[in-house]
Amino acid sequence: MRYSNLFGKTARDYPKDEVSVNAKYLLKAGFIDKLMAGSYTLLPLGFRVVEKIKQIIREEMDATGANEMLMPLLHPKEIWNETGRWDSAKDIMYQLKKDNKEYGLSFTHEEIVMDLIRKRTQSFKDFPIKIYHFSTKFRDEPRAKSGILRGREFLMKDLYSAHVSEEDLYKYYWEVADAYIKTFKRMGLDAKIVEAGGGVFTKNITHEFQVLSEIGEDTIYYCNSCNFAQNKEIFQGKAGDKCPKCLSAGSRQAGKIIESNSIEVGNIFPLGTMYSEKMGFYFTDSDGSKKPVVLASYGIGSTRVLGTLVELYHDDKGIIWPESVAPYNVYLIAIDNEQKTIVKEADKIYESLTGEGIEILYDDRDVSVGQKFNDADLIGIPIRLVISAKTLRQGSGQAENKIEWKKRTEEKGELISLDEVLNRLKKAQKS
Ligand SMILES: [Zn+2]
Repeated sequence: MRYSNLFGKTARDYPKDEVSVNAKYLLKAGFIDKLMAGSYTLLPLGFRVVEKIKQIIREEMDATGANEMLMPLLHPKEIWNETGRWDSAKDIMYQLKKDNKEYGLSFTHEEIVMDLIRKRTQSFKDFPIKIYHFSTKFRDEPRAKSGILRGREFLMKDLYSAHVSEEDLYKYYWEVADAYIKTFKRMGLDAKIVEAGGGVFTKNITHEFQVLSEIGEDTIYYCNSCNFAQNKEIFQGKAGDKCPKCLSAGSRQAGKIIESNSIEVGNIFPLGTMYSEKMGFYFTDSDGSKKPVVLASYGIGSTRVLGTLVELYHDDKGIIWPESVAPYNVYLIAIDNEQKTIVKEADKIYESLTGEGIEILYDDRDVSVGQKFNDADLIGIPIRLVISAKTLRQGSGQAENKIEWKKRTEEKGELISLDEVLNRLKKAQKS
């Protein structure tokens, strides 16, 4: 992509009405645009990152045997009334009326999934069911001030699984938990599995995937020795306590409880049979008896992941994207000479690397080199390539033809050949 052709350029100043780091950087660097509090457009750069996040999620969900599909966002009131959530969730759900009919805008899809299962299954042979989609969620947020971390409208992957027994549900539940940890790791996020309450979803103990961060709105308590972790809302104790899990396991060296702020990037809910019972769905089991189906749901906020990555990966110059989700692999800059021959070289390199499948943002604007360097740091693409008379050593009589290779995370670059550039980029693509 030639930068001159990119919609959504960098801005000169930071936005004045944003307090969060993620919104400041994403807005200034041209990844998002703000429509109103808690509502953002994903500009082409932001859209590319979210598509990469989605692709990683998709690969890991598909690996568990789940099926991708797409469900509607505008729901009739009647279906939400079946579980009583039209009333119990009215604080977070946008509800509207048109021509004497009432509708809700989706903040989740349990009722819709149960209705689908009710219509399309009969016997135990139809289970388990594992279905997911990526879609917009609407949530009435009174305090939408954390940039893209907490939106009134945001993108989410939600997966639902339905099983004939609790045992079968939990088998898949923990399989998805493992897939989530792998998913987040591939994006550069080290998530903890934290026990939590179920809010308007369930009375069961649920699990959140929390990434430690000072700016996080959640508070969690975790053990520095074992995998014990609980959200503040259910933890009974305080920082510095001995870990209850270590103690109950009888370990001589019980770990210590640490308190931390964190950002919730995903959650999984073992919902049980409540939805099936309230919606009057009973499948026929192998012995002919009628039983309610056991449901679970699993969410990952894909736009929240975008914001979380910026909160975790930035310095005072801008964003530092992990390779796996960066909008482009390479930021290419040409420093031209008086003969205007360098840009021609850069054009050739751009064409040849693009032809090899390397994703390049080529800064071909007619602006100062200083501004290009600053924008390269702000946008945060992992590799910066610079070609100039110096790197090519034109006119020196030596056929050097080198390119300056610099990682966003490193201060100094190095001069390498085009072949070596291609080798390294190919290697990075494979890993
Ligand atoms: Zn412990």
